Amino acid sequence: MVNIFYENDVNQTAITDRKVAVLGYGSQGHAHALNLKDSGIDVCVGLRDGSSSAAKASEAGLTVRSLAGASSWADVIMILLPDTDQAAVYDEHVAPNLNPGDAIAFAHGFNIRFDLINPPDDVDVIMVAPKGPGHLVRRTYVEGGGVPCLIAVEQDPSGGARDLALAYAEGLGGARAGIIETTFTEECETDLFGEQVVLCGGLTELVRSAFDILVDAGYQPEICYFECLHEVKLIVDLMYEQGIAGMRYSVSDTAEYGDLTRGPRVIDDHVRETMKDILGEIQSGQFAEEWVAESHSGRENFKRLEDAGHEHRVEKVGSRLREMMPWINAGKVSVQDASGGQG
Ligand code: NAD
Ligand code: MG
Repeated sequence: MVNIFYENDVNQTAITDRKVAVLGYGSQGHAHALNLKDSGIDVCVGLRDGSSSAAKASEAGLTVRSLAGASSWADVIMILLPDTDQAAVYDEHVAPNLNPGDAIAFAHGFNIRFDLINPPDDVDVIMVAPKGPGHLVRRTYVEGGGVPCLIAVEQDPSGGARDLALAYAEGLGGARAGIIETTFTEECETDLFGEQVVLCGGLTELVRSAFDILVDAGYQPEICYFECLHEVKLIVDLMYEQGIAGMRYSVSDTAEYGDLTRGPRVIDDHVRETMKDILGEIQSGQFAEEWVAESHSGRENFKRLEDAGHEHRVEKVGSRLREMMPWINAGKVSVQDASGGQG
């Protein structure tokens, strides 16, 4: 059995006597900075000059510094910039301000796993990766809960890197839900695979393909939307609460028989072979290389695909139907507004 750490397993002084800089105030950045502050940790936010997030962070009661200023003030530097921009910011603003004994931290293993950032031997290198989107890291903390966190230690010249990672994760609220230790490699590869094959890529394409097939067969788009997209949440909630077996218990026998006999025909050996190919591209570094090159050359393909997604008819039908169901978003900050956007 894997070791799971909870609040009693954490030595808080490992972080209460440190100074933490959170670089970036996006999805993860705003959640880390605010949760750490509310946990009584000495934290500042590091932003590039002219950042539109500076006012939002200040209004939230956070101290804002430049990227270099924050890196120099702090002895723990959490890098929460887009994965494809971290290396350039690290080289220019972080590396010149590192002292022996400092720690640099990440929420995803990407830059260390694929050798985009190579920290000096005399700083600790840790990861604290919440297993959830940033707005939920904040919301669940405010509600008294927490998002489970993965921690990892890549370099530990101080001997205290693991305690620091645990204490940081607790400051985020992660110790309320459970903290699991991993490695940069395991976190990075499983995270990329999960988001490509299941959580984002697999799910969105499954939903859109099924929606298109029904609509093209002449069924009303509104009914197809409810069936193929809206109800996903209801089924996922059951799986989240009670596992797949619990979900199957709750649906009708007819739904369960269809699940048991048709599911394996949808996800067949051909799909499994593709999944393995995708894992291979992640492990070999091919995906990372492709994505960094795409990002550094202007993201043309990325934007084209993103725009095409916005034009898909499932979005048009969905936005109309969701307007009629205001309770879906009642009391929730919209994902776009939670971090105050980019900048
Ligand atoms: P984000 O895009 O939401 O925010 C990035 C922040 O960096 C923004 O404030 C942006 O203005 C700023 N920024 C962008 N380019 C910059 C540059 N060149 N110089 C200075 N600042 C710049 O990013 P995110 O989704 O919060 O991701 C941050 C890290 O957290 C990544 O390593 C990501 O893999 C990891 N992570 C994210 C999530 C998530 O829920 N989004 C979950 C787990 C881990
Ligand atoms: Mg992830």
